[in-house]
Amino acid sequence: MLENSKNILNDARMNNYAIAHFNINNLEWTRFILEECDRLKTPVILGVSESAIDYMGGYYTVANLVKSLISDLKINIPVILHLDHGKKVESCIKAIDAGFTSVMIDASTYPITENIRMTKKVVEYAKKHNVTVEAELGHVGSEADKSLIPELYTEVDAAKKFVEETKIDSLAPAIGNAHGLYNGKIELDFERIKEIAKITNVPLVLHGASYIPDDMLKKAVKSGINKVNINTELQIAWANDVKSFIEQNQDIYDPRKIIKAGEKAIKSIIKQKLEILNRN
Ligand SMILES: [Zn+2]
Repeated sequence: MLENSKNILNDARMNNYAIAHFNINNLEWTRFILEECDRLKTPVILGVSESAIDYMGGYYTVANLVKSLISDLKINIPVILHLDHGKKVESCIKAIDAGFTSVMIDASTYPITENIRMTKKVVEYAKKHNVTVEAELGHVGSEADKSLIPELYTEVDAAKKFVEETKIDSLAPAIGNAHGLYNGKIELDFERIKEIAKITNVPLVLHGASYIPDDMLKKAVKSGINKVNINTELQIAWANDVKSFIEQNQDIYDPRKIIKAGEKAIKSIIKQKLEILNRN
């Protein structure tokens, strides 16, 4: 069933484990993720970026697609439909109106006062609709645009003020993590995670978790991370398998067979990640 992230993230926080957030790109990805998480009886957060929403047709298309798959495939786990990196207040409102159960407002490129103002607006609207809100403070950059610099790491005191003033449900801090591919050595600031988790008392979200080694991911969860966002690693695994399928099957033109060639890769990464993140 579709629900907001409150119960599952709070349970993860109380019991020191993390929920996986996987980004969806189309019908097949949504289906593969739902099927595998349901098979493993693990709640899942389906993240959809603004660009993925545009690609798929719009907010209502995505919300109805997810709801219909849950019903047709008889999915029994809690599913959270989450707007990933909503850059405008209006995007969050559109998502909520269409039936998303969780939204992220990402005003992290603005000064903190503007970030607080925008985030509060989203929280106010979301609460009325029983939707949970994630926000980002500091800025999770990427190696590609060279925005991964310690100056943008989340300050502990600022995090406390931010959470208290905005009343968000979860916080995405910048602690050395990055979107896309990591070029060099990955270094996460575990102490900072611990301090922010302790002072804010909300579940923390790790963005850019693709290719973070298993032991580091476990340590991040132990330090206070309760939601882990994975996108790039699934995309690359899917693309690699689809490319080799096409090379080896030059006569096949049925798009269903081509897209499905990446199913195994997606499902096996999901299984692997859930084993790392789940309580044990
Ligand atoms: Zn992100």
